[in-house]
Amino acid sequence: MGMFDTFYGDVKCPYCNEIHEFEEQTKSYDCTMSSLLLGDYIDKGNSNYVYEFKWWCDKDRSKIFNVGVAIRRGQIVKYLVEDEIESTDIMKLENIEDGLGKRLLYERVCREANGYPKEELDYELNPLVNGYKFIAFDVEWEVVRLYRTNDLFASGHIEYFYEIKSKEHGIRIMRSSDVYGNIEIRTLELANKYRELYFNKEEGEWIMIEFKIKVSKEENINSYINKPVLNRILSIEESTNVYMFNDMPKEIVIGIISDAIELEDCYELTIKLWKEKIKIFREFFVGMELASISINWLKGGKLICIK
Ligand SMILES: [Zn+2]
Repeated sequence: MGMFDTFYGDVKCPYCNEIHEFEEQTKSYDCTMSSLLLGDYIDKGNSNYVYEFKWWCDKDRSKIFNVGVAIRRGQIVKYLVEDEIESTDIMKLENIEDGLGKRLLYERVCREANGYPKEELDYELNPLVNGYKFIAFDVEWEVVRLYRTNDLFASGHIEYFYEIKSKEHGIRIMRSSDVYGNIEIRTLELANKYRELYFNKEEGEWIMIEFKIKVSKEENINSYINKPVLNRILSIEESTNVYMFNDMPKEIVIGIISDAIELEDCYELTIKLWKEKIKIFREFFVGMELASISINWLKGGKLICIK
């Protein structure tokens, strides 16, 4: 129902002679939303034929031409354009490397460090602390900072968005999710093209509300810096004017401890909260001073209880 597969490939345009990429949906095969690429065996019938469709010049969409997907012994072996469709003897085409297109595509994804790496990163490790190192696209990456989380509506799933860097590729954006594959890495160019997906809707919402709090010296000062700030809000008892923050199924990252300095009898932490995350309980802050904050260790982060 509404399902299809898609041919992806590129052909030399008969109008401008440049290479144009095409993606053609087809309902002629399994209709499992598969990508059909050069070298893929798509036809279980071991048959030989040309699948034809129309494509157009990228520079002038009114210029239409015919594209043929040459299928030899059930495998996509070549893309034909215009006259080639008639003049090619399909029975003389050789079979090619199984999965050639997928291999070439992944090599490009690795070269550009833009897409889904084969390497995995355990979702349960989120939120990753700054400086966390891992391998993706065969090279080492380091987490620069977590800059956003996104709660997938009513599902209890959280997506984590990081700025990461590698020697080979420089800065990239990474999304870690237990819904959309394991990890996704994007160039800044692509992330900016889909700003609402990778950043926040409003400009300048990366980092937002900043304040300082004093806590007792319970642990090494470095253990505070760069830790995500988590909250677990459930019930609010307004009658006593005390805001209780109790257990929630999932902790939500609402910001980060960006700095900590040692004073005589305490640590002073600089806390940055993301505006979007605290939107829910920002109203609670209106006209209120933060009276006290207690901090506990929690899953690599700090749980902040605000009263
Ligand atoms: Zn063209």
